[in-house]
Amino acid sequence: DTFDNMGLQENLLRGIYAYGFEKPSAIQQRGIVPFCKGLDVIQQAQSGTGKTATFCSGILQQLDYGLVECQALVLAPTRELAQQIEKVMRALGDYLGVKVHACVGGTSVREDQRILASGVHVVVGTPGRVFDMLRRQSLRPDNIKMFVLDEADEMLSRGFKDQIYDIFQLLPPKIQVGVFSATMPPEALEITRKFMNKPVRILV
Ligand code: AMP
Repeated sequence: DTFDNMGLQENLLRGIYAYGFEKPSAIQQRGIVPFCKGLDVIQQAQSGTGKTATFCSGILQQLDYGLVECQALVLAPTRELAQQIEKVMRALGDYLGVKVHACVGGTSVREDQRILASGVHVVVGTPGRVFDMLRRQSLRPDNIKMFVLDEADEMLSRGFKDQIYDIFQLLPPKIQVGVFSATMPPEALEITRKFMNKPVRILV
């Protein structure tokens, strides 16, 4: 299989190839197309399988680049992972002109507010700082149409359940949800039942 026959925009393909990817991994082969169709997807996969590029491609394909408002939100369990996702998103979306910002704890709130006010398409962050930005209305949820939970099991085991639920309450009701998790503990299943609409399940 190839990235060429997934119906991706030319400038996204250029970003993928420029990043050095030649062929899609198993999870990318199965996950990118349903995500690009706007479907809710649950992908049970370990890290190292290529899950980051799966949801980054799905998001980058669907953004409206003429609208410089946050349209996609990605949550990750650690600052390091959020910043790593930010880098991949920016690299794959280089030719599309994507604007991405990582909202994580331990950095300046003012600086986050300044960057969010200047306009971004995608926010990647840890639940605490993202909720803080939403609560302060520095991050406006009105145009968010895609929401990804990366390493959902890890976020739940770190005690982020309440913050994830709080964030869901602030987002528009009919958004696309992607859940990526190595395991599916009961709390993760509860999220998929409560917040997802007929999810496609992909097990790699
Ligand atoms: P992830 O599971 O997203 O953490 O990715 C694990 C590693 O695989 C990262 O170093 C990626 O850069 C790499 N990777 C992901 N997809 C591909 C691909 N299609 N071809 C080559 N390397 C890849």
